[in-house]
Amino acid sequence: MGEQGYEKGRRPVGRTVVLEAPAKVNLHLEVLKRRHDGYHEIETILQTVELCDRVEVTLKERRPGGSPDISLQVVSGSWRVPHDATNLCWRAASLFCRETGVSGALNLQLVKKVPPAAGLGGGSSDAAAVLAACNRLFETGLDDQALENMGAKLGADVPFFIRGGTALGRGTGTSLTPLPLLRTCQFLIVKPDMELKTAEVYANLKMGLTVNSAKANIQVIKPQLARFPQRTWPGFNRLEDVVLPWSPDLKRLIMRLREEAPIAMMSGSGSAVFAAFPVGRDVSGLTREFTETGYFVELAGPRARGVRFRDEESPG
Ligand code: ATP
Repeated sequence: MGEQGYEKGRRPVGRTVVLEAPAKVNLHLEVLKRRHDGYHEIETILQTVELCDRVEVTLKERRPGGSPDISLQVVSGSWRVPHDATNLCWRAASLFCRETGVSGALNLQLVKKVPPAAGLGGGSSDAAAVLAACNRLFETGLDDQALENMGAKLGADVPFFIRGGTALGRGTGTSLTPLPLLRTCQFLIVKPDMELKTAEVYANLKMGLTVNSAKANIQVIKPQLARFPQRTWPGFNRLEDVVLPWSPDLKRLIMRLREEAPIAMMSGSGSAVFAAFPVGRDVSGLTREFTETGYFVELAGPRARGVRFRDEESPG
């Protein structure tokens, strides 16, 4: 994140930090092989977008040597998100204390704007935000790389959200290389009312029997980023091979978007899909069409960074 602006000399006890935790879309996702440990090697292009959860973390008091006392409140409307120690925010706070040896009473408040179980990485981004928040509140001074390494213990998408922007992800997605930032495009993100579990989607991918004929490799795709979103974009999402035959609704949705947009594909393991349009293209008709169908719809630009501190308050 590269932001170290807290006021020196001020005790960080009783302090609150507020962060934006952005969603991501995958502009390309190829599955290279299944590993012996059950995980998959992938090659993906990740892009953060300006659709963000709000994460607020308060360090009420330090407890050196004690065990952390973590509490969590979640505002998520009708979306199902855990409110207990299984929430990725809670797991991130707990991991941070364990790994760095700090402890204290931490209150976490999460307002969900990113739909869960959508392939948009919302939970992972929330976790990255909590790691960054703890690093500041406990004044542990970890750099981005150290936070990314810690994040990888929580999930393959977590490290990406520390720096965000446009990046190539390899391995299970945790080995990251920054790419030139996207410029003029806007993403129409649409999610039908269905949740997909990432592990199940991967488990149903039949390696070597994929029906998607796309074969472009990353060397072909990378140079095309400068012209994104042109209709000849060679990126694709291999996981559509698993999900679209299961879900006629999702298939219809992607086909409808492809009638209007130069690029439309599923994000991650779904069920969100996105269409990329040039900036200035009026998409209000499409937005209305999908909203009336009852889908979640959001128009968001690309974001050049990952989690970000919004403000900082201290009762003194
Ligand atoms: P993944 O690809 O890791 O499954 P995703 O992008 O599809 O992630 P997430 O929003 O990260 O979707 O949610 C995945 C699951 O993680 C949810 O079904 C939910 O039960 C659980 N979860 C735990 N913590 C959170 C959180 N803070 N926000 C959303 N979901 C969370």
